[in-house]
Amino acid sequence: MMETNFFDTKIEFLKGVGPQKGDLLKTELGIFTFGDLLQHYPFRYEDRSRFYRISELREDLPGAQVKGRLRQLEVIGEGPKTRLIGQFSDGTGSMELVWFQGISYVQKSLFRDREYILYGKPTSFQGRFQMTHPEMEPLTPENERGGYWQPVYNLTEKLRRRFIDSRTISRWQRQILELAGRQIRETLPDSLMEKYRLATKLQALWGIHVPGNEQHIHQAKRRLKFEELFYNQLRLIKQKILRKTEYPGQVFGRAQLIRTFYDEHLPFDLTGAQKRVIREIFEDMRSGKQMNRLLQGDVGSGKTIVAFICMLLAIDNGAQACLMAPTEILSDQHFQGLSVFAEMLGLRMGRLTGSTPKKERKILHEGLLDGSIQIVVGTHALLEDIVQFQNLGLVIIDEQHRFGVAQRAKLWQKNETVFPHVLVMTATPIPRTLAMTLYGDLDLSQIDELPPGRKPIVTRWKSDQHRLEVFGFVRQELAKGRQAYIVYPLIEESEKLDFKDLMDGYESVQRAFPEYQISIVHGKMPAKDKDYEMQRFLKQETMIMVATTVIEVGVNVPNASVMVIESAERFGLSQLHQLRGRVGRGADQSYCILMTGLKLSTETRMRMKVMAETNDGFVIADTDLRLRGPGDMAGTQQSGVVDLLLADLSKDAEVLKAARESAMQILEEDPELVLPKNQPIHNQLLHLRENESNWARIS
Ligand code: ADP
Ligand code: MG
Repeated sequence: MMETNFFDTKIEFLKGVGPQKGDLLKTELGIFTFGDLLQHYPFRYEDRSRFYRISELREDLPGAQVKGRLRQLEVIGEGPKTRLIGQFSDGTGSMELVWFQGISYVQKSLFRDREYILYGKPTSFQGRFQMTHPEMEPLTPENERGGYWQPVYNLTEKLRRRFIDSRTISRWQRQILELAGRQIRETLPDSLMEKYRLATKLQALWGIHVPGNEQHIHQAKRRLKFEELFYNQLRLIKQKILRKTEYPGQVFGRAQLIRTFYDEHLPFDLTGAQKRVIREIFEDMRSGKQMNRLLQGDVGSGKTIVAFICMLLAIDNGAQACLMAPTEILSDQHFQGLSVFAEMLGLRMGRLTGSTPKKERKILHEGLLDGSIQIVVGTHALLEDIVQFQNLGLVIIDEQHRFGVAQRAKLWQKNETVFPHVLVMTATPIPRTLAMTLYGDLDLSQIDELPPGRKPIVTRWKSDQHRLEVFGFVRQELAKGRQAYIVYPLIEESEKLDFKDLMDGYESVQRAFPEYQISIVHGKMPAKDKDYEMQRFLKQETMIMVATTVIEVGVNVPNASVMVIESAERFGLSQLHQLRGRVGRGADQSYCILMTGLKLSTETRMRMKVMAETNDGFVIADTDLRLRGPGDMAGTQQSGVVDLLLADLSKDAEVLKAARESAMQILEEDPELVLPKNQPIHNQLLHLRENESNWARIS
């Protein structure tokens, strides 16, 4: 048993917290212990180091601290327009203070002609400065000198109502830090601290919660980010090493089936990049160690055929393969595409999605269990416990960013004797930093070449006013026998409105193109109807497809060469890129037209510009990360891997690189972390693991 750690002390035992506030901290912020509170880092700071004179105020200040006297306080207006107005002056000028809420409370707690220190955002109104809902406290000998930076913490309305604000939190932080004193263990080895000139853990915690100046904040953040990324990488790399040394994999040596496929059925020559990644994957599948590989390749780069060839290797050696896709449409398309090949080779292939009828399921379950079905293609439904294999040898996960790591693990366990080889395929190019943290435990293969004869898609950005012109262009393309997609956003929060937009859009498309058959596909349709419409479009029975983003991933209709994206401003960059990837799959010149309104934010303009300028998925992914931050990038929320508290993958690439290199070096020299100099790492890993199991118990 480890002795109770100081940091595991329950938060209610902190002086001033107590059981009631303690409960609130637990339910509102998930803070249970002293350690949890210390890890509740501020997200910004307010400069309380100096006082501004009223005459010095500027509108561009994010906030300003002012010392002065409250001259007047009166309630103005009636009903919902009631507000409390104060006049505040400091000898250099005066300004107005305004409260719309909590008026009676504020009125009771403030006194005319007293001196206060206040902090707020200065705005100018009719030539005079104003502060709305400023923070105010009476001037005292302690606070009259200023000289500190106030951390601002994430809080909830409920906490604020109980008077727990950022100042309260930082007071508690200080109390814990004072109590902790020397108990704060160093978690990084000396060598790293020296090499990167990092602050100690103790300095960093003081610096982040109780900074005296900007330099403290900067040093503290640098140190804590490094630590965070270092342990993130250390664990991923450790995991990777462990798999390579501990987990055996089936050895797939025979490749007769593949030879037959190459010689007799393959409809085109593989690109150099496809051949290279197949070699890399085969090497893993023959190594006797379990494969965990990420296959990256932009939309249209030809990942599906690579996946199929890898399946053949498993099957030729008596094992089964499964392919999991994130949507029903996509999995059906894989199924249909691959069943042509499977048939040629005399293989049995099954499909399993949420809408597979019971009877069919039963047949499938039996076939997988007795080994008579060699390939199964499906959705999440594959994860269900009832799906058992005779010998699952290869798991392929398409468009991984939609799946979580836990789901990856679930598929592993479908073979209890030897874990199956795992190949994860992503079409969204992922910025390097994100890839390192999301997939840092996987080996990487990259298809960096498109099949020959593809013409880069021409992308244009047009405002709504040009719709007639755009439809005219679409008509020209249709006249050449091409097909077109017209895509509408469907975003859950305003589903009803979006749905109306889609239907209105559908009607206007019908009116504009009376001579053409039109398909419509959206998420609310039963899978079978969606499928029916997709098939009609694929067979060129319909020439225009009006759709929501359900067509985003994977769907392949080579004759479709025009894509119009309505309300393009409502899509993220990666999503736009994915959508655009639906065209440009045949030999014809393809076009993507982004339609937007006129009033757009700078960020949106940037997005449209990047789309119009480049087809390079990596440039797009990097821009996306820069514009939105990793929290909003497709898939990172569900992934559960990137739960970084401080580090920002869009800004901290350098720190991440240093952290990853350090972790690799250390593990190379001392894989078990037994050397005395690595003792702090060993201890910290134990501590992290213990914390995790605590969490598992709580949640
Ligand atoms: P993605 O990587 O986006 O999944 P797909 O596997 O769907 O791409 O391939 C896109 C299209 O390119 C398909 O129609 C496929 O048959 C075709 N394709 C794949 N590889 C080649 C190749 N080497 N030569 C020509 N066409 C190819
Ligand atoms: Mg694909």
